[in-house]
Amino acid sequence: MTEATNIPFNRPSLAGGEHRYIDEALASGKLSGNGQFADRCAQWLERHTGATKALITPSCTAALEMSGILAELTPGDEVIVPDFAFVSTANAFVLRGAVPVFVDIDPRTLNIDPAAIEQAISERTRAIVVIHYGGVACNMDRILAIARRHELTVIEDAAHAIEATYNGRPLGSLGDLATFSFHETKNVQCGEGGALLINDPQLVEHAEIIQEKGTDRSQFFRGAVDKYTWRDTGSSYLLSEVASAFLWAQLEHAPRITAERRDVWQHYFEAFEPLEKDELLSRPYVPAGCVHSGHLFYVLLPTVEQRDAVLGALHQRGVHAVFHYLPLHESPGGRRYGRLPRPAPVSRDASSRLLRLPLWAGLGLERTEAVVEAVYAAVRGQRSRAGRGIAPPTSSPIRAPA
Ligand SMILES: *Cc1c(COP(=O)(O)O)cnc(C)c1O
Repeated sequence: MTEATNIPFNRPSLAGGEHRYIDEALASGKLSGNGQFADRCAQWLERHTGATKALITPSCTAALEMSGILAELTPGDEVIVPDFAFVSTANAFVLRGAVPVFVDIDPRTLNIDPAAIEQAISERTRAIVVIHYGGVACNMDRILAIARRHELTVIEDAAHAIEATYNGRPLGSLGDLATFSFHETKNVQCGEGGALLINDPQLVEHAEIIQEKGTDRSQFFRGAVDKYTWRDTGSSYLLSEVASAFLWAQLEHAPRITAERRDVWQHYFEAFEPLEKDELLSRPYVPAGCVHSGHLFYVLLPTVEQRDAVLGALHQRGVHAVFHYLPLHESPGGRRYGRLPRPAPVSRDASSRLLRLPLWAGLGLERTEAVVEAVYAAVRGQRSRAGRGIAPPTSSPIRAPA
């Protein structure tokens, strides 16, 4: 393929109603948090997950921080987190003085390994934080059983996982608490935004107080108390009504956005089957009972050298692939604040060989095919001596643009 391509890794798209709803918000005269649009978003999340309560926050990071306050962590308490993770998943708890205890991941899903959780539990363990990587559920049956046995709080970092399910149950509804991200890189987005889902009814009132600067303002507005006052520690964890209006336009279309992303995911998945058979790369694994969100598509190359070479070759062809996460235990912050009770070889290995391909709603069949071709060329290029010439598939599960 010689034609010039320029395919960004991510392109945030509009769902359609953003301008109209923002105009409505402006006309309403109420622009601060927990207004009508934030309420609509929260109710949508409650309806779609079955959570007792959803609170719309400025980010997933903010929602994770609220989880740390709600879990009543005190300095020296330990929180078990996957080593292959985003920084906020650990940092939010470090802000409470807690020690993130990094554990290894499962080599097939790259999700936290339940056996490693069990091995990392100590006297000081208070909570387990899981990431449903790529919107593929963690082994929640095992994780919830471990948590029950040791009386630990379970927090789902569901930043990738909107609209994903585990044995028919929505992700975000399984832990005591769950967090979503509406950052521009996520499936449903408003630039910056997030949500905290509360599945333990006993935590709802406290969560509202934490969100409203430590006051009972939420109860006051419902008429439950006759004046509002400082009750506890808290901060300002609200999303403005302008951003909430934007978010509502996206949430309304979450099923369609998810379907578009899953189509791209499925196209990549089928297209790379021959390369996997030839052991030139491996594809994601989705366990039975899991419906993923189409958040991201990655491949694992055989070695770090090959990963870096493919990454470079794709960039030369205008395909902006990326990789992540650097193992938390190897980062300066992780070394300073965290603990690694046992080596995490799978996390290190995945980090070195993983490559994420462009995936967004609106990527479309043509560009998806261009990425597939570029990957074939890059992988083949590396193996030119082996002389394999594998044609990409001709089937196309991607719908034509509406
Ligand atoms: C994006 C992301 C976050 C942070 O989300 P923000 O809304 O940007 O704070 C946290 N955890 C995971 C797993 C993420 O992918």
